[in-house]
Amino acid sequence: MTTRRRTLIGMGALAANALSLGQAPQARATEGAESGPANDESRTATADFPLARAIDVHAHYITPTYRQALIDAGLDQPDGMSAIPAWSVDGALELMDSTGIAAALLSVSSPGFAVGDHHTARALVRQVNEEGAALVKANPTRFGLLASLPLPDADAAVEEVAHVFDVLKADGISLETNYEGTYLGDPSFRPVLAELNERQAVVHLHPTSPACWEATALGRARPMIEFLFDTTRTVTQLILDRVVENYPDIRFIVPHAGAALPVLADRIAAFALTESTPPVDVIGALKRLHYDVAGFALPRALPALLHLVDTERLLYGSDYPFTAEAAVKALGVRLAATDVLTAQQRQRVLSGNAARLFPRLADGGNS
Ligand SMILES: [Zn+2]
Repeated sequence: MTTRRRTLIGMGALAANALSLGQAPQARATEGAESGPANDESRTATADFPLARAIDVHAHYITPTYRQALIDAGLDQPDGMSAIPAWSVDGALELMDSTGIAAALLSVSSPGFAVGDHHTARALVRQVNEEGAALVKANPTRFGLLASLPLPDADAAVEEVAHVFDVLKADGISLETNYEGTYLGDPSFRPVLAELNERQAVVHLHPTSPACWEATALGRARPMIEFLFDTTRTVTQLILDRVVENYPDIRFIVPHAGAALPVLADRIAAFALTESTPPVDVIGALKRLHYDVAGFALPRALPALLHLVDTERLLYGSDYPFTAEAAVKALGVRLAATDVLTAQQRQRVLSGNAARLFPRLADGGNS
């Protein structure tokens, strides 16, 4: 077992104990499904766990192709973590069944496709997108796909946008917070953003290491604080460079309860007054974004975010398998127990808000 996995399981277990996670999740309705093919008919999500009927907008898939490409590129300890976590279709469905998660939007996590030259990366993006689409086709009510793009090659990325939406029928796009040190508000990425705006795409942002991590990460795994700062950095650029304003039909999802944005929002807004005339409406732009609650949103981050945005902007995210099963369950228990959400608001966060972004997956795919 990896050090990081041990750590997260430990944290999850501590949180679970503190909240008296006593009851075992109900057995799945169809035991024995493990040995058969993973498909919609053989599995049913648990109905009474705190995450019942949740739509998970922040879940990852790691196909054998992608895992081997990371290993071949020397990225078997991604972003300073001790290993690439295990992942399989059956394992993902097991977690969803045991926690009640109805559907998960699958995306590739960091380090994305920084695996060689742009030609190699482009081919791998295409193949892993195709593999993701095949997973969705086999499990259409349980999985969706947030496809990857071969940035920073903007021309290739525009072509991939057409392929993933027109051919693969992807549910949205996943973008890393930077590509080789270029952030998402950079003018070179505008053709891609224009295309995503035209298609009214849902775009989930995913943190990755900043280009300067050797100097700033203090020798620690970058997901601990660098990921949060990189999210804050790219969203700040998207807002101050008026991408959010000029491409209003992109539905952006900011991960990890908005990272540092809730506590920096007023400061960014104040500096914006000095940058341009008329000044960018920073708070207004932040209120138009969506936010997933993956990771450690409670007890502190979510209350801060709720000072910034309404609950209809919040979405559930597990970050599985990079967040271990015990920590996923612990967040579910905390979301059920917190007094910062009413029962109605909690259900919106778990599924109602995501159903508007991903209507195909609403109500177990039966809508
Ligand atoms: Zn993630």
